Amino acid sequence: MTDRLNVLIVASEVSPYAKTGGLADVTAALAIQLKKRGHDVRVILPYYASIRGKNLPLDSALESMCVRMGGNNEEWCKVLHMDTADDVPIYFVEHHAFFDRSGLYHDEAMHDYHDNPRRFSFLCRAALQYCMDAHFKPDIVHAHDWHTALLPAYLKVWFWDHEYLGHAASVLTVHNAAHQGVYPHSQYGYFGLGEQAFTPDRFESWGQVNILKGGIAYSDMVNTVSPGYAKEITTPHGGFGLAPYFTAKGDAFCGVLNGVDYANWCPELDATIPAKFSVKDMAGKAECKRALQKAFKLEVRDDVPIVGAIGRFVTQKGYHLVRGTIEELLWDVPMQFVILGSGDWENTSYFGMLPGRCPGRAGSYIGYSEEIAHLIEAGSDFFLMPSMFEPCGLNQLYSLRYGTLPIVHATGGLDDTVEQYDEQTGDGTGFKFHAPTPHALYNTVRWAVSTWHDRKPHMKMMMERAMQRDFSWEHAVHDYEALYQNAIQKKAEYDNYHS
Ligand code: ADP
Repeated sequence: MTDRLNVLIVASEVSPYAKTGGLADVTAALAIQLKKRGHDVRVILPYYASIRGKNLPLDSALESMCVRMGGNNEEWCKVLHMDTADDVPIYFVEHHAFFDRSGLYHDEAMHDYHDNPRRFSFLCRAALQYCMDAHFKPDIVHAHDWHTALLPAYLKVWFWDHEYLGHAASVLTVHNAAHQGVYPHSQYGYFGLGEQAFTPDRFESWGQVNILKGGIAYSDMVNTVSPGYAKEITTPHGGFGLAPYFTAKGDAFCGVLNGVDYANWCPELDATIPAKFSVKDMAGKAECKRALQKAFKLEVRDDVPIVGAIGRFVTQKGYHLVRGTIEELLWDVPMQFVILGSGDWENTSYFGMLPGRCPGRAGSYIGYSEEIAHLIEAGSDFFLMPSMFEPCGLNQLYSLRYGTLPIVHATGGLDDTVEQYDEQTGDGTGFKFHAPTPHALYNTVRWAVSTWHDRKPHMKMMMERAMQRDFSWEHAVHDYEALYQNAIQKKAEYDNYHS
């Protein structure tokens, strides 16, 4: 193994404590894998009201901690601690005014909390304060998305010569470049970084503060979550305005494909599904299909394929393409459709009413349910992911392991991980379309369904191949170790240059 490192992971989401999407799965799994590799990894996240409700066996790590923010603001908080079953120490920052609320980022009406920049800048400063007060000397401080992107800036602006923080190298993982944390300049003073950091090459963006942009500038290494998406965000369209800043990082910017937590997502071990199965014995998959049909009040039959979908209802996920085609598909093609998701009004109302319009052929569950997610992965024949862009995507990786062939828009991590079906040879692990249009989606779903009906040997080959593809964290963690070593080297070069 490489040198044993002290790693501090700070994130707004860590599974299973707080999760709205893949970020939570990644931070949790990465921490476990780093621990297995012998590193001293510690994870810090907010003590949200939803976590308080779980009644975890917590002890107090720091009874009372003072965190100094800009504008002479002092915040007092407590740091709670527990070890996970995998022996990873998790630290929760308890600050009632900031985190004791129903949502992570927004209220029930989906309105962002107006003080999000304060909440998350405080989280960053509190995480570093914890290191100082607890005498933890991180070699790596690993930030995730805009919520913790101030960490690299704090390290370089304030703590460059601090006994505990001065030698820490910073890594910023961008899980989604569309969310940048852009706020009026009036919010900036609270961060306590000083106007010298409010320049166009750092935090300033058209007069506003762009937190992710500043984080990119100050980080020793920046990565995103697939090589394909790393390329995409250096293009004007894909980078959401940040392409020049990603490009400017040169070899301090790269893509590392996320891993999958196969302990949680694997049909041989999955305790939540009605019957387990494996590439050697697929009988259980047919049972899962029947259970899925019953659960969603579909006709119980094995002579039509089920196309499943799971995801957050936001424009990024491309469900407007499905809305434009699914009823036509269900009329034209012998198939069934199920969807699990929650989010915006358009998708919630459309998919909520779809089963009423296509009884027996379409089912939906509007809400969040890990258990139903597992059932859809296990019981479907195809998994539809029409994302407009997708930094990595986890559900297509889960689908591959469950022999549920992905039908995806060829973008970012979806393009990197799904191999196109070849009608001549039967090669491939799924079906891809290149134009993000209802027409392309219609044709590709139709192509997949007709393959299911007419080319059973090819389907069998593809399912077996898909189930044997390995996207485990064992690979990804080596890439992160290499990335951490690069960050340490970049930090040394930076220190030399500035000494
Ligand atoms: P993103 O992080 O953009 O949401 P990913 O594909 O990387 O997309 O990860 C999504 C994760 O969230 C997966 O683990 C998926 O199963 C889960 N998920 C999303 N919506 C739901 C839902 N309504 N119910 C259960 N799990 C969900």
